[in-house]
Amino acid sequence: MSKFIELREQFSENLEKISIKLEKSCWDFYTNSTPENLKNYEICQDEYSNLFKDKETYEKFLEIDKNELSLHEQKQLKNLIKEFDEELNTGEALKELRKKENEIAKKFNSYIPKINGQEVNKTEITKILQTETDPDIRKKAYDAKIKGGNLIAYDLTEFVKMRNDYAKTKGYNNFFEYKLKEDYEVESEFLDGLINEVYSKSIGKIREIQDKKQKELKEIFGVESLEPYHYGLLTDISKDVNEVLKDKDITLISKNIYNNMGYDVDQMIKEGKLTLDLYPRKGKNTHGFCFGVEAGKDSRILANLTNNIISLDTLNHEMGHCVYDLGISTKLTFLDRRASSPAVTEAVAMMMGDIIKREDVLKDILPPNVLSDFKNLFVEDEVSFVSKSLLIIEFERDLYKNPDVDLAELWNNLSEKFLNRVGNNNNEWATIPHYLSHPAYYQNYFRANLMKAQVYNHLKSVLGNITENSCSAEYLDKNLFKFGASVEEYDLIKQFTGKEFSAQDFIKELD
Ligand SMILES: [Zn+2]
Repeated sequence: MSKFIELREQFSENLEKISIKLEKSCWDFYTNSTPENLKNYEICQDEYSNLFKDKETYEKFLEIDKNELSLHEQKQLKNLIKEFDEELNTGEALKELRKKENEIAKKFNSYIPKINGQEVNKTEITKILQTETDPDIRKKAYDAKIKGGNLIAYDLTEFVKMRNDYAKTKGYNNFFEYKLKEDYEVESEFLDGLINEVYSKSIGKIREIQDKKQKELKEIFGVESLEPYHYGLLTDISKDVNEVLKDKDITLISKNIYNNMGYDVDQMIKEGKLTLDLYPRKGKNTHGFCFGVEAGKDSRILANLTNNIISLDTLNHEMGHCVYDLGISTKLTFLDRRASSPAVTEAVAMMMGDIIKREDVLKDILPPNVLSDFKNLFVEDEVSFVSKSLLIIEFERDLYKNPDVDLAELWNNLSEKFLNRVGNNNNEWATIPHYLSHPAYYQNYFRANLMKAQVYNHLKSVLGNITENSCSAEYLDKNLFKFGASVEEYDLIKQFTGKEFSAQDFIKELD
């Protein structure tokens, strides 16, 4: 056994125990936010940080001769050293960043929007913008949303500068570049190339669909030109689908989809491998997450579902993360017992999320004409997603490059470029939660969306409709999931699909 492997395994023993404990304490706090659960969560966070404050172990890792390691081991070593370096050498600066982040989150979360003096929550704002046809009420809801952005826009800009200062101590121009390279191992030039390719090849389709939607909205509101508050109204068949789903149990629908692929969901729950906490409750976090507590053994979903199409997409999405986690081989070394990369697990989850539009899973629930119109939304959704994600990524990159420019104007210019919309000269950008909590993360969704097309096309060529083939689960486990992080993301996509990762499959689908 090499010196590195010996040291890695020795260190991993504690790391594994504490990581599992930390993930469980996070789950407890997110599902039940009592002061005791918060305290326990913070204790576990400190315990985790302390592991990387052990100077002696750090020095042992530093002494290892890289040239004797495989490429994969070199990467493991680099990541370990990075975590030690962060805790030991810039621990205080990191603590300051976390503090500032929590402050801004608290400020944003405690903002309660009001319409006509009456308090409404953020879900209600979203619902109004999706369904309300009275322009007056829409404008009030939109303004209330922007007010939330106004509240934190200045703090967020200052926070970006703090993050940039931190990145400079690590030798980077700005925090976006630092995160991209250090956390996601994405080369800036590669991402730029991918963005340019997708933009240039899909802009025709993007404009076509945007024009169609804008024409519809102008007719509905009887106006010549649209204001920002007109956007977001659901005009398509999703309305009718929601009407049908209102009285259905979407958990059961999702379970059936997975059962048909060969997953025994009830058995997974019975064995304690899968835990579902799906409906809103007081003291529970209001978002949706998958907690990979222990790869191959314990995966959990926190969600806040209602019986509609977005919730069904969400549940299928989070279940996708879970089956990936549970399919990872427990024989791998601890550091590899995770998804190949954030983009790969998002690709699987996103594929499972929109399987309801690609395949016929709703055929026993929806009338045939509604089903076919609903499935036709697939391309429109892909186009909307790509234009929105390009806007979010480009804005964020420019934000970190120069936080002192007029950000409202920047947001407006990029909205014009990607969404074909004007009049967004405001702090709407500050309402995007990822900018605060997951810097430089959105590019993972963007790349995942491209990967998703390639992965799905391959599956379809081997298995046919994956929700109608009970071998799908086994195929995914054996050929994709079990490798965990032992195979790099693009190598895994190539090994799985037989082709280099590219935007080709995605672009073809837009035709
Ligand atoms: Zn996800």
